[in-house]
Amino acid sequence: MARIVMKFGGTSMAGTERIRRVANIVRRHQEAGHEVAVVVSAMAGETDRLVTFCREANPLYDPAEYDVVVASGEQVTSGLLALTLQAMGCKARSWLGWQLPIHTDDAHAKARIEDIEADTLAASMAAGEVAVIPGFQGLSRHGRITTLGRGGSDTSAVAVAAAVKADRCDIYTDVDGVYTTDPRIVAKARKLKKVTYEEMLELASVGSKVLQTRSVSLAMKENVRVQVLSSFIDDDAPLGDDLPGTMIVSEEELSGELEGLEMERQMITGIAADKNEAKITLTRIADRPGAVAAIFGPLAAANINVDMIIQNVAKDKGETDVTFTVPGADLVRTQALLEGAQQTIGYYRMIADSKVAKISVVGVGMRSHAGVASTMFKGLAERGINIQAISTSEIKVSVLIDEDETELAVRVLHTAYGLDAEDKAA
Ligand code: ADP
Ligand code: ASP
Ligand code: MG
Repeated sequence: MARIVMKFGGTSMAGTERIRRVANIVRRHQEAGHEVAVVVSAMAGETDRLVTFCREANPLYDPAEYDVVVASGEQVTSGLLALTLQAMGCKARSWLGWQLPIHTDDAHAKARIEDIEADTLAASMAAGEVAVIPGFQGLSRHGRITTLGRGGSDTSAVAVAAAVKADRCDIYTDVDGVYTTDPRIVAKARKLKKVTYEEMLELASVGSKVLQTRSVSLAMKENVRVQVLSSFIDDDAPLGDDLPGTMIVSEEELSGELEGLEMERQMITGIAADKNEAKITLTRIADRPGAVAAIFGPLAAANINVDMIIQNVAKDKGETDVTFTVPGADLVRTQALLEGAQQTIGYYRMIADSKVAKISVVGVGMRSHAGVASTMFKGLAERGINIQAISTSEIKVSVLIDEDETELAVRVLHTAYGLDAEDKAA
C-alpha cells in the first residue's frame, strides 16, 4: 500500500466522459489499497476563456480579482470528480484551496505556496476517503484567493505530495511521458524513461510545458518522486506503479543505473522551444560603467525578468548596442519603462521584435562532452537559420531565432544530436 497524489491536467478533465475515465483510474488505485489524493486542473480551454473575460472586463485588471475569476475553473472540476467518484461508490470529497488551506504569498496571479495544513487531509485519506483538490489555487496571508501562474496545478500536486508525505506524485496528462522534445512538433521524438530533476528543471524553464518549472524545483527540494503518465489509457491498463511513463530522478540514481552499461549518456537529453519571449535592442548606448545598470535597474524594480543579454563591442565613438529578451507578456510594460528612462540611459533608438523564438538544448551529458554548441550552430547554419542571440548554462545552450523557423530548427537539431527515434532502433 502506498500513499499517492495523482494529478490530472485540463485535457484529461475536459467533459463528463473524460472525468469518468479519470475517476476510474482513481478508483482502481484506491481499490488496490492505496491512499489517494487527486489534484485537478480546469477543463482544457477554460482558464483561457476566463482570462479573456477578465481582459474584456478591464484591460488593466486587478490581479486579485483576476484570481477570483480564474480559480473558478478548478472548483468546477474538483466538485465534478468528487461527484463522479461518489456515483461509482467511492468515498470522496473536495477540499478547496482555502479550506485546507494552501497558504501562499500575496503575489496574485503568480503566487508561491508557503505551506499546506495537511493534517485533516491526511486523516481523511487514511480513513479511505479520496481527497479531491483543485490545483492552481491557494489562500493569501490577507485571506484572499490566489493562483499560482499558468500550469500551476503541477505545483499544487507536488506541494500536496510533500505535505502528506506521499510515496509518489503521478502527473497524468495527454502524453505518456517526457519526450526528447514536444512529440506534437517532432513525430520522431523519443520517450525518456528517466530524466534528472536538473534536466527537467532546465527543460521546463526553457519551454517544455509538460511540467510547470516550479513544480520541478519544489519536487527537487522536497524530494518528491514525480512520474509523468498518460490518462488516455484502457480501463484495464496497469496502475501507476507499472504504467510506462517518465520518472524524474536524481543524478545519482540515474548514473548508478547506467554504471556498467556500455551505453554512454547522450550528450543531449532534450530540446525545447519557447515562443513567448520578445527581443529589445537599444542602440548607441555610451560604453561606460553604469550604462547597462541604468537599463536593467528599472526592469528589475518592475519585476520584469530579463533572459538573454548581448552587448556588442563598442564602435569608434565609444557607443554600443544592447540586445536582450523579456517575457512577451511584459513587452509593452518594458517599452513604456524604457521610454520613460531614455534620458537617463541615453540610447538613440529602441527596436522591439516579438516574432522570435528561443530554442534550447539541455543535457547533463554536456558537462563531459565538448562541441555541443558548435553542433547546434552548424546544424542551424546548414538550414539557413540565423542566430540572433545566444546564452548558455552548465547543462543548456539556447539560441534566439525567427519565430517562423521554430519547428524547422527543433527538427533539425533533434536529428543533429542523434535523438530521432529511428536512430535508437538502428
Ligand atoms: P496538462 O493539461 O495535462 O497539464 P499540458 O498541456 O500542460 O498538459 O502539458 C502537456 C503537453 O506538453 C503535451 O501535450 C505536449 O504537447 C507538451 N510538451 C512540450 N514539451 C514536451 C516534452 N518534452 N515531452 C512531452 N510533452 C511535451
Ligand atoms: N488551469 C490552469 C491553467 O490552465 C492551471 C493548470 O492547468 O495547471 O494554467
Ligand atoms: Mg500543464
